[in-house]
Amino acid sequence: MRIPRTPEFNVIAKYFTRPVKRAHLSIGDDCALIDVTPGKQLAISTDTLVSNVHFFADAAPEMLGHKALAVNLSDLAAMGATPRYFTLAITLPAINETWLGAFAAGMFRLADQFEIELIGGDTTNGPLSMTLTVIGQVAPARALRRDNAKAGDDIWVSGSLGGAALALKHLQGKARLKPSLQPRALAELLMHLHMPQPRVALGMRLAGVANAAIDISDGLIADLGHIATRSNLGARINYDSILYHPALLSVKAAERNACMLAGGDDYELCFTAPLSAHEKIRSISSDMGLALTNIGIMTALDSTASASPSIALMDANGVEMDIANLSSLGFDHFAARTVTT
Ligand code: ADP
Ligand code: MG
Repeated sequence: MRIPRTPEFNVIAKYFTRPVKRAHLSIGDDCALIDVTPGKQLAISTDTLVSNVHFFADAAPEMLGHKALAVNLSDLAAMGATPRYFTLAITLPAINETWLGAFAAGMFRLADQFEIELIGGDTTNGPLSMTLTVIGQVAPARALRRDNAKAGDDIWVSGSLGGAALALKHLQGKARLKPSLQPRALAELLMHLHMPQPRVALGMRLAGVANAAIDISDGLIADLGHIATRSNLGARINYDSILYHPALLSVKAAERNACMLAGGDDYELCFTAPLSAHEKIRSISSDMGLALTNIGIMTALDSTASASPSIALMDANGVEMDIANLSSLGFDHFAARTVTT
């Protein structure tokens, strides 16, 4: 009897199996086999994208393939790790060849850009979702951990903030953009949401330079809050120094603030570094043609026992602004669903 090929195996063979350069053993066995460069540690991270939670069910598959890998690569970037391998667990409502072809094309284009190899996964039937696990490597002493910020470190942010959040509000009909916004500018804005560019090259250059880093997936205040909490420090940031996406000029101040301070999905890096790294950071910025903006400073906690990590947002006059409402806007999947008894 000929050994039959199930539809699942056809999908794997046709859309997800490609020659690999690095892995010893890739798709087709029970496990993939990979080497670790001596002296390096593996950096491993997983992110899931669920239909109608993280993306619209009818989202363009090519962009979805890009984004599913991009958000995972962003975690490697935030660790200062070099991308090596990834796995893909995908749940499909049906086998739609056109959809699969486009999804794979978007995913592999980004994979090729960052030289990361697909080495395994799982293919199942059910509501559309995808879980990717990325594996990178980094020298242990150079990894950009959240818990290693120091009091007195400057706080830096790459690129501009709020573009992805504004694009999402626009698509949901919740933001009223000025009609004068040119179609080209609108298309550029939407790309921040659909095709984020993970800051992998930046993360690799910051390894050994910055003390701590995080990628901004849930909003600046929420994500900087993670560095502060894990490092047991406070953070003081200057409102006026935060670079926001120019399209945010076309909405009201409250909306602009929500997007730039608490809007998710930008995937820029927020990192802290000592004063002595200033020159180095400026030269990385000019080499890469990427804005790196110093937005504030990490502060030591009061020595009182009750002092806890917090973020102070200062206006141009050095007066603390109220962000009590904003900080609750950082995207939390269970925020609206937590049942208290
Ligand atoms: P098992 O039954 O051992 O879990 P599977 O039948 O799920 O194996 O998968 C067969 C092979 O195909 C494995 O090597 C697995 O890693 C790979 N694979 C399955 N689905 C995917 C996918 N979506 N992307 C990449 N590789 C996949
Ligand atoms: Mg399986």
